[in-house]
Amino acid sequence: MDGPIRKVTPYVFYGQTTSLCESCYALVPAKIIIEDGNVFYLKRCKTHGVQKALVSTDPTYYKLCHDYLKPGDRPLQVQTRTELGCPYDCGLCPDHEQHSCLALIDVNEACNLTCPVCFADSSTAKTSHRSLAEIERMMDALVASEGEPDLLQLSGGEPTIHPKILDIIAAAKRRPIRHIMLNTNGIRIAQEPEFVKALAAFKPGIEVYLQFDSLRPEALKTLRGADLTRIRRQALEALEKEPISTTLVVVVKHGVNDDELGEIIDYALQWKCVRGVTFQPIQDAGRNENFDARRDRVVLSDIRRKIIEAGTAFGEGDIIPLPCNPESIAIGYALRKGSQIAPITSFFPKEMLVEALPNAITFEKFPDLHKQVMAFFSLATSECRHPEKLNALLCCLPEIPVPEGMGYENVFRIAIVEFMDAHNFCLGRVKRSCIHFVTSNGQIIPFETYNLFYRDAAAQQRMAISKGGKV
Ligand code: SF4
Ligand code: SF4
Repeated sequence: MDGPIRKVTPYVFYGQTTSLCESCYALVPAKIIIEDGNVFYLKRCKTHGVQKALVSTDPTYYKLCHDYLKPGDRPLQVQTRTELGCPYDCGLCPDHEQHSCLALIDVNEACNLTCPVCFADSSTAKTSHRSLAEIERMMDALVASEGEPDLLQLSGGEPTIHPKILDIIAAAKRRPIRHIMLNTNGIRIAQEPEFVKALAAFKPGIEVYLQFDSLRPEALKTLRGADLTRIRRQALEALEKEPISTTLVVVVKHGVNDDELGEIIDYALQWKCVRGVTFQPIQDAGRNENFDARRDRVVLSDIRRKIIEAGTAFGEGDIIPLPCNPESIAIGYALRKGSQIAPITSFFPKEMLVEALPNAITFEKFPDLHKQVMAFFSLATSECRHPEKLNALLCCLPEIPVPEGMGYENVFRIAIVEFMDAHNFCLGRVKRSCIHFVTSNGQIIPFETYNLFYRDAAAQQRMAISKGGKV
């Protein structure tokens, strides 16, 4: 019998969230769909119509992220009330699910570069520096919220050109902050050995978070406006000399540097001072010149896949979702001996990571990990200690035992940190954000909502339009 035939959708409707319109930043409903091996948000704005944003190129990993969810770890204090609803109550408001695993304080707007890609919209034209007293008040707000903050990143602008940067680091060291990172483009470090010596005096507990991006001049010109290959090498030589623990930070833009992720990891392993590489898909926020979302976006799963397929030691099970914010952050840890590494993340069962963790792993509970450690370091005895937490950069992970006489330099870390923008914004995911800015009035605001809605006059204007829902 001929009759009307029902249609099957070309996708699987996997769920529903609330996202943002890419034009007016209004909150819009978004269907989460899986289609042709990708995950998308299918959004509908009353004013700007239907939009389709790529969220993941790996549905299996996307689904796996939800298995890693663990109960939230709340801050000691919140700074605002739940009134207008997320994301207009930052923060942190009582609705937020995660404390500040990593907090940032912008010590200045001034910079010695004007990068075409800069979510802070800093430049050589900006000259302002926060006063030490104001920065100390911001640190106190963080300590009040966290008790003992895990990690503070001093950022900007370019923090190393703040006239009181050493006093700022000293002020952070006087507080119960476990780990301090200096986020820098490396120019001052490359050019001033005395400055690097002064930084080294703050060891242990100080690390340099070095903008790196690429080994190629052309990619650096696209992302940073200048060929910084020599500056990067000189900065690493200076950091190696002291030595100061360093993490390389790579902003990844499709077609610019996404084909050299494996080479960057290999290069990182040539430097003893480098403890790991953090990859960040480009966030469409602040200054983002010549950005075409359809052409230039990269998502976390792209980067994870490229690292796995680049022939690095990290395989499928070695880069896993971080339990406090699994869709936004992936991590992989390895033991390190010279330029050799042996990944270990796969030794921790998911069930263990999402439940209450012991502070330190004991080898009795992890015989396979024990064997791996002993074989990798060619040891005959089981003399091991717990000198360094895996959570030196990000929490949720236990201390790892390494043999007597070895330490942080024997651990290597890959992190992929995807900050959402208007394309892939998810209201559920932002409530789990664990990377936060501290503001001058003592508020603590998730990285994403800060850049989209709170950072400056342009962001606040965006919020006003978003609330109105029209341009
Ligand atoms: S992002 Fe967090 S702090 Fe901001 S409004 Fe939403 S729940 Fe509150
Ligand atoms: S990205 Fe960093 S180095 Fe570049 S302009 Fe912005 S603050 Fe300066």
